[in-house]
Amino acid sequence: MKAAVINRKIGRPEFVEIPVPEIGDGEILYKPMACGVCGSDVIDWNVAGPGTFGHEPAGYVVKTGKGVTGVKEGDRVFIHHRVPCLTCHYCRRGHFTMCPDYKEYGFDPSAYAEYTRVKARHVRTDVIHLPDHIPFEVGCLIEPMATMWRLMNRAGIRGGDTVLIMGAGALGLSAVQVAQRLGAAMVISSDFNEWKLQYARELGADLAIDRSQCSEQEAAERIRAANQGRLPDVVVVIPPQISALQEGIRLTGKGGRVSQFGPTGPGDLLTIDPNEFFFKEITYASSYSSSPLETKEVAELIFRGKLKVQHLITHHFRLEQIMEALALKKEAEHSLKVIVHPHPDEYFGSTPKGPKP
Ligand SMILES: [Zn+2]
Ligand SMILES: [Zn+2]
Repeated sequence: MKAAVINRKIGRPEFVEIPVPEIGDGEILYKPMACGVCGSDVIDWNVAGPGTFGHEPAGYVVKTGKGVTGVKEGDRVFIHHRVPCLTCHYCRRGHFTMCPDYKEYGFDPSAYAEYTRVKARHVRTDVIHLPDHIPFEVGCLIEPMATMWRLMNRAGIRGGDTVLIMGAGALGLSAVQVAQRLGAAMVISSDFNEWKLQYARELGADLAIDRSQCSEQEAAERIRAANQGRLPDVVVVIPPQISALQEGIRLTGKGGRVSQFGPTGPGDLLTIDPNEFFFKEITYASSYSSSPLETKEVAELIFRGKLKVQHLITHHFRLEQIMEALALKKEAEHSLKVIVHPHPDEYFGSTPKGPKP
């Protein structure tokens, strides 16, 4: 079968032909029909190190191992690539992504593959059945949407808040919708890319700021003008850059919360002015990934059409075109969610549908 995996010797992805994996007790053989390309799949240090390459799949259960309950052959499911143990100190405090078992990648060899083995703990803990009306490519969006749900909850969003979301890619646009659902009175989207901001406006962002056309100071003035003279109550920083975090902190209003989502590189340092943090009572909350709580919550909302994900999908690629898909994601200019199809002929006919680069 075909698969894309990380070559650990060179720390880069490669396309390989390998045997279909064998499964053991409690495991399943899974056939990803669609897999979303995550921004983290194109962060070099992450791919070479702690990252999980190919982790937003939706597909069919092909075979179940001894003792598997709850899923059967032929089921259409989303499976989360990382799951907590549910019994350790962190899990019992609800801090699932800090669980020591959490980082274990559930797929072998990867979700960018024609078939993949799913480990028993993952089969037990975070599998969600897709209703018939939900296409696989929409099922893929459960994972990234769940990360935004957790992020916004970690930021302590409250009804009536003004929320600034920095970054208007697929995640930022998901965050716009999550903030709206959680009761934000005003949602502001900022990005350096006008093409993406157009999507934010369509999703109902109250203000969309093109930072390529104005300075940070001007952005702050526009926010104040639209927000009764105040800076936002919550600032969410999606891009994994220190400069973005620094700007996010400066744009956070009094009593506000700033929330980091993008993983900055190990050793990157952020300078803060504690005097400002103190007198403005700013809270800094990072949010890493998501847990079975959030996947369940957002799946229900996606299934009922309360979170719109289909129109965030801009590109489709066959599995063999994985390098093109990654390059497009990395360039990040005119793409939002990029989907890779391990079985495009079965899914679409002879070619993937939708715009191609
Ligand atoms: Zn992801
Ligand atoms: Zn645990």
